[in-house]
Amino acid sequence: MKKEPFVSYEQLKEIVKEYPTPFHLYDEKGIRENAKAVKEAFAWNKGFREYFAVKATPNPFILNILKEYDCGCDCASLTELMLADSQGFDGEHIMFSSNDTPAEEFVFADKIGAIINLDDFTHIDFLENAIGKIPETISCRYNPGGVFQMSNGIMDNPGDAKYGFTTEQLFEGFKVLKEKGAKYFGIHAFLASNTVTNEYYPKLARQLFELAVQLQKETGCDIKFINLSGGVGVAYTPEQEPNDIRAIGEGVRKAYEEVLTPAGMGDVAIYTEMGRFMLAPYGCLVTTAIHEKHTHKEYIGVDACAVNLMRPAMYGAYHHISVMGKDNSVCDHKYDVTGSLCENNDKFAVDRMLPKIDMGDILVIHDAGAHGFSMGYNYNGKLKSAEVLLREDGYTQLIRRAETPRDYFATFDCFDILKDMKNL
Ligand SMILES: *Cc1c(COP(=O)(O)O)cnc(C)c1O
Repeated sequence: MKKEPFVSYEQLKEIVKEYPTPFHLYDEKGIRENAKAVKEAFAWNKGFREYFAVKATPNPFILNILKEYDCGCDCASLTELMLADSQGFDGEHIMFSSNDTPAEEFVFADKIGAIINLDDFTHIDFLENAIGKIPETISCRYNPGGVFQMSNGIMDNPGDAKYGFTTEQLFEGFKVLKEKGAKYFGIHAFLASNTVTNEYYPKLARQLFELAVQLQKETGCDIKFINLSGGVGVAYTPEQEPNDIRAIGEGVRKAYEEVLTPAGMGDVAIYTEMGRFMLAPYGCLVTTAIHEKHTHKEYIGVDACAVNLMRPAMYGAYHHISVMGKDNSVCDHKYDVTGSLCENNDKFAVDRMLPKIDMGDILVIHDAGAHGFSMGYNYNGKLKSAEVLLREDGYTQLIRRAETPRDYFATFDCFDILKDMKNL
């Protein structure tokens, strides 16, 4: 499928006059349409809720858009919990799916009434020690080990993942939690990442539904929800067929009606914790070509770098690139598109066929709306960019300003070096 930016060249030429590149741009219309489609795809399940994985795009403006579709927040750290709490999400709308959790984070999660999803058997006692009790509602993360296999091959490798209880631990854990006073139970599992197939959730769901029936039977625990977590991917490359959330919802429904309903568990709520699927396609990184270099290869240097979007450097991930205004030009130039870090993996594209790029051309790097800005860091003293929302009405809104050197130096309190900087 041809990948087109959600913003036109004409629009973008105006936007870059107001906001200097690089910046992240988000598409309010796309975010809303997709959030609505997710809600509709699971409307058959009375208790359904998507808890948006805050780590994907931790921005209050984005969270507030999703909130209009009754999304909650999936958090994994103190500051993510604080962000969700500050935006008026109540405890029922906050899932705390963390791992290797510090005691004070459990304390804060409990204080704001978040649903706690335990990552390990030993966390039962750890939590009890931290907050002085076991909450009435509690969830456990499951890891069956081995590989997660589908008809088209191995999708991922849970046996190698640090997360979750083993099957045995889960049965034992439910019994212990019940003895300690838990009343309502949830099961959570994240077994494959960035899956681009409509079969992942249905297959995972069936596995968890069968487990839930067994758990209920053996432990007598009242299972209130099953959390399918994240892992629903997006089509980063033009060749991939995007997931169809309606088909995914229907697939989960089928498993539900075949496994849970006949077991008398037809009131179990389905939860999801998608990050990528909710936001990735609705954000892009906008950057300008500032250098061309002709050495052993042809390089285009842009004003963004891996600090703004780490996935290509970290995972060798493909992100599609549009050279704005050259949509109809032939891709007859082979480039490495690079950032300015002193790291040779700081490349947004390697050997990519693109139209001829001239200095000053604006490049749109696609699918950066999730795990884009948020994975950013400050290596080489690079500053994080602004985030801009392209609103439904066509106007733009700055939803996070760019960092300044003052932000970068702010943590040197003890040296008071800001005072000595004449050029801030
Ligand atoms: C990262 C994460 C998610 C979101 O994953 P996506 O692939 O972005 O959908 C959900 N739940 C947990 C516990 C996570 O760590």
